[in-house]
Amino acid sequence: MKIEKDRVVRFHYTVSEQGGEPVESSKDRGEPLAILMGHGNIIPGLEKAMEGRAAGDSFSAEVPAAEAYGERRDGLSQRVPKKHFGGQKLGVGQQVVLNTNFGPRAVTIQKVGMSVVDVDLNHPMAGKDLHFDIEIVEVREAQQVEIEHGHVHGDGGHDHGHDADAGKAD
Ligand code: ZN
Repeated sequence: MKIEKDRVVRFHYTVSEQGGEPVESSKDRGEPLAILMGHGNIIPGLEKAMEGRAAGDSFSAEVPAAEAYGERRDGLSQRVPKKHFGGQKLGVGQQVVLNTNFGPRAVTIQKVGMSVVDVDLNHPMAGKDLHFDIEIVEVREAQQVEIEHGHVHGDGGHDHGHDADAGKAD
């Protein structure tokens, strides 16, 4: 079965900055990642590279920043009250996940003051051309409910108790 829109793909990946050391791998966690194709679950460049592949395929993909996490933008600094960080230790250059109105978001700490913290809202991988090594583990048809939700349920995907709140969109 080929990879195309509305199919579920389970795959292993290793990502590095082009010419650099690996920064993250699904193999660190052991389990492959599961995504629903065509629903923006992963960066556009990687979706494009996976189209038409099948289970058992291994390949590399070079994804320019524009098709990955976008170019770095200036003026994306924001001053946030320190209490929003809970009690955690904060250091300049450190990446933390902040709960925002738009959901959890990875930010980089720029400056730590007495009661406020300046953060850079650019994604930590923004502006970087990325290299992926991919191994496709499984390709299957998505269930109707997965297509409606726009994400995968079960192995490697979401587990948010749909039986309890059937019919409710998340
Ligand atoms: Zn769901």
